[in-house]
Amino acid sequence: MPKPGELTFVAPRGAKKPPRHLADLTPAERKEAVAAIGEKPFRAKQLSQHYFARYAHEPEQWTDIPAGSRARLQEALLPELMTVVRHLSTDQGTTRKTLWRLFDGTLVESVLMRYPDRVTMCISSQAGCGMNCPFCATGQAGLDRNLSTAEIVHQIVDGMRALRDGEVPGGTSQAGGSGGGPARLSNIVFMGMGEPLANYNRVVGAIRRLTDPEPDGLGLSQRGITVSTVGLVPAIHRFADEGFKCRLAISLHAPDDELRDTLVPVNTRWKVREVLDAGFEYAAKSGRRLSIEYALIRDINDQAWRGDRLGRLLKGKPVHVNLIPLNPTPGSKWTASRPEDEKAFVEAIAAHGVPVTIRDTRGQEIDGACGQLAASER
Ligand code: SAH
Repeated sequence: MPKPGELTFVAPRGAKKPPRHLADLTPAERKEAVAAIGEKPFRAKQLSQHYFARYAHEPEQWTDIPAGSRARLQEALLPELMTVVRHLSTDQGTTRKTLWRLFDGTLVESVLMRYPDRVTMCISSQAGCGMNCPFCATGQAGLDRNLSTAEIVHQIVDGMRALRDGEVPGGTSQAGGSGGGPARLSNIVFMGMGEPLANYNRVVGAIRRLTDPEPDGLGLSQRGITVSTVGLVPAIHRFADEGFKCRLAISLHAPDDELRDTLVPVNTRWKVREVLDAGFEYAAKSGRRLSIEYALIRDINDQAWRGDRLGRLLKGKPVHVNLIPLNPTPGSKWTASRPEDEKAFVEAIAAHGVPVTIRDTRGQEIDGACGQLAASER
Protein backbone atom coordinates (compact mmCIF):
# COMPACT_ATOMS: atom_id res chain seq x y z
CA MET A 1 0.00 0.00 0.00
CA PRO A 2 1.31 3.46 -0.80
CA LYS A 3 1.90 5.68 2.20
CA PRO A 4 0.00 8.97 2.28
CA GLY A 5 1.75 11.50 0.10
CA GLU A 6 3.18 8.94 -2.25
CA LEU A 7 1.68 9.02 -5.68
CA THR A 8 1.97 5.65 -7.30
CA PHE A 9 2.30 4.97 -10.96
CA VAL A 10 1.64 1.57 -12.41
CA ALA A 11 4.69 0.31 -14.27
CA PRO A 12 4.03 -1.00 -17.77
CA ARG A 13 3.54 -4.79 -17.83
CA GLY A 14 6.75 -6.69 -18.17
CA ALA A 15 8.83 -3.63 -17.24
CA LYS A 16 12.06 -4.67 -15.58
CA LYS A 17 13.48 -2.95 -12.57
CA PRO A 18 16.85 -1.21 -12.71
CA PRO A 19 19.62 -3.51 -11.44
CA ARG A 20 20.30 -3.33 -7.71
CA HIS A 21 23.30 -1.14 -6.98
CA LEU A 22 25.41 -0.26 -3.95
CA ALA A 23 23.88 3.23 -3.94
CA ASP A 24 20.39 1.76 -3.48
CA LEU A 25 21.42 0.18 -0.19
CA THR A 26 22.10 1.33 3.35
CA PRO A 27 25.53 0.41 4.75
CA ALA A 28 23.94 -2.52 6.66
CA GLU A 29 22.19 -3.79 3.53
CA ARG A 30 25.48 -3.62 1.61
CA LYS A 31 27.13 -5.90 4.16
CA GLU A 32 24.29 -8.38 3.85
CA ALA A 33 24.45 -8.30 0.07
CA VAL A 34 28.19 -8.98 0.12
CA ALA A 35 27.80 -11.81 2.63
CA ALA A 36 25.00 -13.30 0.51
CA ILE A 37 27.46 -13.98 -2.30
CA GLY A 38 29.98 -15.50 0.09
CA GLU A 39 32.32 -12.52 0.36
CA LYS A 40 33.67 -11.03 3.58
CA PRO A 41 31.34 -8.34 4.94
CA PHE A 42 34.17 -5.77 5.11
CA ARG A 43 34.26 -5.80 1.32
CA ALA A 44 31.09 -3.69 1.49
CA LYS A 45 33.06 -0.87 3.08
CA GLN A 46 35.84 -1.23 0.52
CA LEU A 47 33.35 -1.02 -2.34
CA SER A 48 31.68 2.00 -0.74
CA GLN A 49 35.08 3.64 -0.47
CA HIS A 50 35.75 3.02 -4.14
CA TYR A 51 32.37 4.24 -5.29
CA PHE A 52 31.55 7.13 -2.95
CA ALA A 53 35.03 8.43 -2.09
CA ARG A 54 37.05 7.63 -5.22
CA TYR A 55 34.29 7.47 -7.88
CA ALA A 56 36.01 4.29 -9.08
CA HIS A 57 33.42 1.83 -10.29
CA GLU A 58 35.71 -0.15 -12.61
CA PRO A 59 36.88 -3.45 -11.02
CA GLU A 60 40.45 -2.96 -12.34
CA GLN A 61 40.71 0.01 -9.98
CA TRP A 62 39.95 -2.07 -6.85
CA THR A 63 43.49 -3.13 -6.06
CA ASP A 64 42.68 -3.90 -2.41
CA ILE A 65 40.19 -6.60 -3.45
CA PRO A 66 41.43 -9.98 -4.72
CA ALA A 67 41.16 -10.14 -8.51
CA GLY A 68 39.09 -13.32 -8.24
CA SER A 69 36.35 -11.56 -6.24
CA ARG A 70 36.03 -8.40 -8.26
CA ALA A 71 33.75 -9.61 -11.04
CA ARG A 72 31.37 -11.23 -8.56
CA LEU A 73 31.24 -8.09 -6.42
CA GLN A 74 30.71 -5.93 -9.46
CA GLU A 75 27.84 -8.07 -10.66
CA ALA A 76 26.18 -8.07 -7.26
CA LEU A 77 26.72 -4.45 -6.28
CA LEU A 78 28.14 -2.25 -8.98
CA PRO A 79 26.44 -3.16 -12.25
CA GLU A 80 26.56 -0.59 -15.02
CA LEU A 81 23.51 1.62 -14.46
CA MET A 82 23.75 4.09 -17.30
CA THR A 83 25.92 5.13 -20.19
CA VAL A 84 26.60 8.57 -21.60
CA VAL A 85 24.86 9.08 -24.93
CA ARG A 86 26.46 12.49 -25.30
CA HIS A 87 27.64 15.62 -23.57
CA LEU A 88 26.64 19.05 -24.84
CA SER A 89 28.58 22.08 -23.61
CA THR A 90 28.06 25.82 -23.78
CA ASP A 91 29.14 28.98 -21.89
CA GLN A 92 32.81 28.25 -22.76
CA GLY A 93 32.37 24.72 -21.55
CA THR A 94 31.30 25.75 -18.03
CA THR A 95 27.76 24.42 -18.62
CA ARG A 96 27.55 20.80 -19.62
CA LYS A 97 24.46 18.73 -20.22
CA THR A 98 24.67 14.96 -20.20
CA LEU A 99 22.18 12.70 -21.91
CA TRP A 100 22.11 9.27 -20.25
CA ARG A 101 20.78 5.98 -21.48
CA LEU A 102 19.54 3.75 -18.66
CA PHE A 103 19.65 -0.07 -18.63
CA ASP A 104 16.28 -0.36 -20.38
CA GLY A 105 16.95 2.28 -23.01
CA THR A 106 15.20 5.07 -21.08
CA LEU A 107 16.83 8.48 -21.55
CA VAL A 108 17.37 11.11 -18.86
CA GLU A 109 19.44 14.27 -18.56
CA SER A 110 21.53 16.09 -15.99
CA VAL A 111 23.22 19.49 -16.21
CA LEU A 112 26.41 20.70 -14.54
CA MET A 113 26.98 24.44 -14.19
CA ARG A 114 30.35 25.73 -13.05
CA TYR A 115 30.52 29.29 -11.78
CA PRO A 116 33.61 31.09 -10.46
CA ASP A 117 32.52 30.53 -6.85
CA ARG A 118 30.34 27.40 -6.93
CA VAL A 119 29.28 24.40 -8.97
CA THR A 120 25.65 23.38 -9.29
CA MET A 121 24.24 20.16 -10.69
CA CYS A 122 20.67 19.86 -11.85
CA ILE A 123 19.53 16.23 -11.75
CA SER A 124 16.55 14.16 -12.80
CA SER A 125 14.44 12.13 -10.39
CA GLN A 126 12.12 10.53 -12.96
CA ALA A 127 12.30 9.70 -16.65
CA GLY A 128 9.67 12.09 -17.94
CA CYS A 129 7.09 13.57 -15.61
CA GLY A 130 3.42 12.98 -14.90
CA MET A 131 2.55 16.47 -13.68
CA ASN A 132 1.59 17.80 -17.09
CA CYS A 133 2.49 21.50 -16.66
CA PRO A 134 1.76 22.95 -20.13
CA PHE A 135 4.84 25.22 -20.34
CA CYS A 136 7.35 22.49 -19.43
CA ALA A 137 9.03 20.35 -22.10
CA THR A 138 9.30 17.32 -19.81
CA GLY A 139 5.64 17.58 -18.86
CA GLN A 140 4.56 17.30 -22.49
CA ALA A 141 5.99 13.82 -22.93
CA GLY A 142 4.46 12.24 -19.83
CA LEU A 143 6.06 9.87 -17.34
CA ASP A 144 8.21 6.94 -18.43
CA ARG A 145 9.18 5.67 -15.00
CA ASN A 146 10.67 6.49 -11.64
CA LEU A 147 14.45 6.45 -11.36
CA SER A 148 15.98 4.19 -8.74
CA THR A 149 17.94 5.76 -5.90
CA ALA A 150 21.19 4.66 -7.54
CA GLU A 151 20.17 6.10 -10.91
CA ILE A 152 19.64 9.45 -9.20
CA VAL A 153 22.87 9.26 -7.18
CA HIS A 154 25.01 8.16 -10.11
CA GLN A 155 24.31 11.40 -12.02
CA ILE A 156 26.05 13.20 -9.15
CA VAL A 157 28.86 10.68 -8.73
CA ASP A 158 29.76 11.05 -12.38
CA GLY A 159 29.60 14.85 -12.16
CA MET A 160 31.92 14.84 -9.13
CA ARG A 161 34.32 12.57 -10.95
CA ALA A 162 34.28 14.85 -14.01
CA LEU A 163 34.96 17.89 -11.82
CA ARG A 164 37.80 16.13 -10.00
CA ASP A 165 39.34 15.03 -13.28
CA GLY A 166 39.23 18.59 -14.63
CA GLU A 167 36.79 17.73 -17.44
CA VAL A 168 34.73 20.86 -16.85
CA PRO A 169 36.60 24.13 -17.33
CA GLY A 170 36.22 26.91 -14.74
CA GLY A 171 34.56 30.23 -15.39
CA THR A 172 36.53 33.45 -15.58
CA SER A 173 39.18 33.41 -12.87
CA GLN A 174 38.33 36.65 -11.15
CA ALA A 175 39.49 37.34 -7.63
CA GLY A 176 38.18 34.50 -5.50
CA GLY A 177 37.13 32.57 -8.57
CA SER A 178 38.08 28.99 -9.12
CA GLY A 179 39.65 29.50 -12.56
CA GLY A 180 40.30 26.27 -14.39
CA GLY A 181 41.39 22.90 -13.04
CA PRO A 182 39.54 20.55 -10.74
CA ALA A 183 36.58 21.77 -8.71
CA ARG A 184 34.16 20.48 -6.07
CA LEU A 185 30.42 20.25 -6.28
CA SER A 186 28.64 22.71 -3.99
CA ASN A 187 24.94 22.62 -4.94
CA ILE A 188 22.45 20.05 -6.16
CA VAL A 189 19.02 20.95 -7.44
CA PHE A 190 16.27 18.41 -8.16
CA MET A 191 15.12 20.53 -11.07
CA GLY A 192 15.85 18.22 -13.96
CA MET A 193 13.26 15.82 -15.30
CA GLY A 194 10.54 14.60 -13.01
CA GLU A 195 8.62 15.47 -9.87
CA PRO A 196 10.90 14.43 -7.00
CA LEU A 197 8.14 14.11 -4.41
CA ALA A 198 6.22 11.74 -6.70
CA ASN A 199 9.21 9.38 -6.40
CA TYR A 200 9.41 9.97 -2.68
CA ASN A 201 11.23 6.98 -1.19
CA ARG A 202 13.92 6.87 -3.85
CA VAL A 203 14.56 10.60 -3.67
CA VAL A 204 14.84 10.46 0.13
CA GLY A 205 17.21 7.50 -0.26
CA ALA A 206 19.26 9.53 -2.73
CA ILE A 207 19.48 12.48 -0.32
CA ARG A 208 20.82 10.10 2.33
CA ARG A 209 23.44 8.65 -0.03
CA LEU A 210 24.47 12.14 -1.13
CA THR A 211 24.84 13.44 2.40
CA ASP A 212 25.97 10.47 4.48
CA PRO A 213 29.65 10.92 5.40
CA GLU A 214 32.24 9.15 3.23
CA PRO A 215 32.51 6.29 2.60
CA ASP A 216 28.87 5.44 3.39
CA GLY A 217 27.84 8.27 1.08
CA LEU A 218 29.26 11.26 -0.77
CA GLY A 219 29.56 13.52 2.28
CA LEU A 220 27.82 16.49 0.66
CA SER A 221 25.99 19.12 2.72
CA GLN A 222 22.20 18.92 3.02
CA ARG A 223 22.19 22.71 2.92
CA GLY A 224 23.45 22.58 -0.64
CA ILE A 225 20.51 20.47 -1.85
CA THR A 226 17.26 21.93 -3.20
CA VAL A 227 14.20 19.79 -3.83
CA SER A 228 11.76 21.45 -6.20
CA THR A 229 8.11 20.40 -6.26
CA VAL A 230 4.85 21.26 -7.98
CA GLY A 231 3.32 21.12 -4.48
CA LEU A 232 2.27 17.61 -3.51
CA VAL A 233 1.00 18.66 -0.10
CA PRO A 234 0.95 15.33 1.80
CA ALA A 235 4.46 14.58 0.53
CA ILE A 236 5.69 18.01 1.65
CA HIS A 237 4.40 17.29 5.18
CA ARG A 238 6.13 13.94 5.14
CA PHE A 239 9.34 15.50 3.82
CA ALA A 240 9.26 18.07 6.62
CA ASP A 241 9.34 15.20 9.12
CA GLU A 242 12.52 13.66 7.65
CA GLY A 243 14.55 16.25 9.53
CA PHE A 244 16.62 17.33 6.54
CA LYS A 245 18.25 20.74 6.23
CA CYS A 246 17.67 20.77 2.48
CA ARG A 247 16.00 23.69 0.79
CA LEU A 248 12.48 23.24 -0.56
CA ALA A 249 11.36 25.07 -3.68
CA ILE A 250 7.71 25.29 -4.67
CA SER A 251 6.84 25.86 -8.31
CA LEU A 252 4.02 28.32 -7.77
CA HIS A 253 3.80 30.21 -11.09
CA ALA A 254 0.54 31.93 -10.10
CA PRO A 255 -0.80 33.43 -6.86
CA ASP A 256 -4.43 32.62 -7.68
CA ASP A 257 -6.07 29.21 -8.01
CA GLU A 258 -7.89 30.06 -11.19
CA LEU A 259 -4.68 30.55 -13.18
CA ARG A 260 -2.62 28.01 -11.25
CA ASP A 261 -5.17 25.28 -12.02
CA THR A 262 -4.14 25.66 -15.66
CA LEU A 263 -0.37 26.21 -15.27
CA VAL A 264 0.25 23.56 -12.62
CA PRO A 265 -2.62 21.09 -13.02
CA VAL A 266 -2.00 19.41 -9.65
CA ASN A 267 -3.39 22.65 -8.19
CA THR A 268 -6.87 21.30 -8.84
CA ARG A 269 -6.09 18.88 -5.99
CA TRP A 270 -4.04 21.06 -3.63
CA LYS A 271 -4.68 24.78 -3.71
CA VAL A 272 -2.27 27.73 -3.46
CA ARG A 273 -3.13 28.33 0.19
CA GLU A 274 -2.55 24.68 1.18
CA VAL A 275 0.68 24.43 -0.79
CA LEU A 276 2.10 27.58 0.75
CA ASP A 277 1.11 26.51 4.25
CA ALA A 278 2.84 23.18 3.74
CA GLY A 279 5.90 25.07 2.46
CA PHE A 280 5.92 27.39 5.49
CA GLU A 281 5.71 24.36 7.76
CA TYR A 282 8.72 22.88 5.96
CA ALA A 283 10.59 26.16 6.39
CA ALA A 284 9.82 26.19 10.11
CA LYS A 285 10.94 22.59 10.64
CA SER A 286 14.06 22.78 8.49
CA GLY A 287 15.13 26.29 9.44
CA ARG A 288 15.56 27.05 5.74
CA ARG A 289 13.93 29.76 3.71
CA LEU A 290 11.28 28.49 1.32
CA SER A 291 12.01 29.15 -2.36
CA ILE A 292 9.08 30.17 -4.54
CA GLU A 293 9.66 29.46 -8.22
CA TYR A 294 7.73 31.60 -10.66
CA ALA A 295 8.25 31.32 -14.42
CA LEU A 296 7.31 34.66 -15.95
CA ILE A 297 5.12 34.06 -19.00
CA ARG A 298 4.26 37.06 -21.18
CA ASP A 299 0.70 38.28 -20.64
CA ILE A 300 -0.24 35.08 -18.82
CA ASN A 301 1.01 35.39 -15.24
CA ASP A 302 3.23 38.51 -15.33
CA GLN A 303 0.73 41.31 -14.53
CA ALA A 304 1.80 43.71 -11.77
CA TRP A 305 -1.42 42.93 -9.86
CA ARG A 306 -0.38 39.28 -9.69
CA GLY A 307 3.03 40.37 -8.40
CA ASP A 308 1.25 42.41 -5.74
CA ARG A 309 -0.97 39.46 -4.83
CA LEU A 310 2.07 37.20 -4.55
CA GLY A 311 3.79 39.78 -2.34
CA ARG A 312 0.76 39.83 -0.02
CA LEU A 313 0.71 36.05 0.26
CA LEU A 314 4.39 35.91 1.16
CA LYS A 315 4.81 39.04 3.25
CA GLY A 316 6.69 38.46 6.49
CA LYS A 317 7.37 34.79 5.72
CA PRO A 318 10.81 33.15 5.47
CA VAL A 319 10.78 32.97 1.68
CA HIS A 320 12.74 33.93 -1.38
CA VAL A 321 11.09 34.40 -4.76
CA ASN A 322 12.99 33.13 -7.77
CA LEU A 323 11.63 34.48 -11.03
CA ILE A 324 12.51 32.40 -14.07
CA PRO A 325 12.17 33.99 -17.52
CA LEU A 326 10.13 31.40 -19.42
CA ASN A 327 12.17 29.26 -21.78
CA PRO A 328 9.75 28.70 -24.61
CA THR A 329 9.44 25.01 -25.45
CA PRO A 330 9.13 23.91 -29.09
CA GLY A 331 5.70 24.68 -30.52
CA SER A 332 4.65 26.71 -27.47
CA LYS A 333 2.59 29.85 -27.99
CA TRP A 334 4.03 31.29 -24.79
CA THR A 335 7.17 33.31 -24.37
CA ALA A 336 9.13 35.27 -21.75
CA SER A 337 7.86 38.57 -20.34
CA ARG A 338 8.75 41.98 -21.74
CA PRO A 339 11.57 43.64 -19.74
CA GLU A 340 9.26 46.42 -18.49
CA ASP A 341 6.66 43.92 -17.26
CA GLU A 342 9.34 41.85 -15.56
CA LYS A 343 10.60 44.99 -13.81
CA ALA A 344 7.12 46.01 -12.65
CA PHE A 345 6.49 42.47 -11.40
CA VAL A 346 9.70 42.45 -9.37
CA GLU A 347 8.85 45.83 -7.87
CA ALA A 348 5.33 44.75 -6.94
CA ILE A 349 6.75 41.83 -4.95
CA ALA A 350 9.61 43.81 -3.42
CA ALA A 351 7.15 46.49 -2.25
CA HIS A 352 6.00 43.97 0.37
CA GLY A 353 9.55 43.48 1.63
CA VAL A 354 9.72 40.01 0.06
CA PRO A 355 13.19 39.11 -1.30
CA VAL A 356 13.06 38.45 -5.04
CA THR A 357 15.69 37.68 -7.69
CA ILE A 358 15.64 36.71 -11.36
CA ARG A 359 17.23 33.37 -12.16
CA ASP A 360 19.97 33.25 -14.75
CA THR A 361 19.14 30.98 -17.63
CA ARG A 362 22.31 29.13 -18.41
CA GLY A 363 22.41 26.44 -21.00
CA GLN A 364 19.59 27.66 -23.20
CA GLU A 365 21.49 26.87 -26.41
CA ILE A 366 21.85 23.23 -25.41
CA ASP A 367 18.26 22.86 -24.22
CA GLY A 368 19.67 22.53 -20.75
CA ALA A 369 17.87 25.47 -19.18
CA CYS A 370 14.87 25.21 -16.87
CA GLY A 371 12.08 23.15 -18.28
CA GLN A 372 13.78 22.43 -21.56
CA LEU A 373 15.05 19.02 -20.65
CA ALA A 374 13.41 16.68 -23.10
CA ALA A 375 15.32 13.94 -24.78
CA SER A 376 14.87 14.74 -28.45
CA GLU A 377 15.93 11.23 -29.49
CA ARG A 378 12.69 9.77 -28.26
N1 SAH B 1 8.83 18.89 -11.00
C1 SAH B 1 9.58 19.81 -10.20
C2 SAH B 1 11.02 19.99 -10.62
C3 SAH B 1 11.37 20.10 -12.08
S1 SAH B 1 11.22 21.61 -12.95
C4 SAH B 1 8.89 21.14 -10.18
O1 SAH B 1 7.99 21.36 -10.95
O2 SAH B 1 9.22 21.96 -9.33
C5 SAH B 1 12.19 22.84 -12.20
C6 SAH B 1 11.58 24.24 -12.38
O3 SAH B 1 11.58 24.66 -13.76
C7 SAH B 1 10.12 24.27 -11.95
O4 SAH B 1 9.89 25.44 -11.21
C8 SAH B 1 9.40 24.34 -13.27
O5 SAH B 1 8.10 24.85 -13.14
C9 SAH B 1 10.31 25.22 -14.07
N2 SAH B 1 10.07 25.17 -15.51
C10 SAH B 1 9.57 24.15 -16.22
N3 SAH B 1 9.47 24.49 -17.52
C11 SAH B 1 9.92 25.74 -17.63
C12 SAH B 1 10.09 26.64 -18.73
N4 SAH B 1 9.76 26.27 -19.96
N5 SAH B 1 10.59 27.86 -18.47
C13 SAH B 1 10.94 28.22 -17.23
N6 SAH B 1 10.82 27.42 -16.16
C14 SAH B 1 10.31 26.20 -16.35
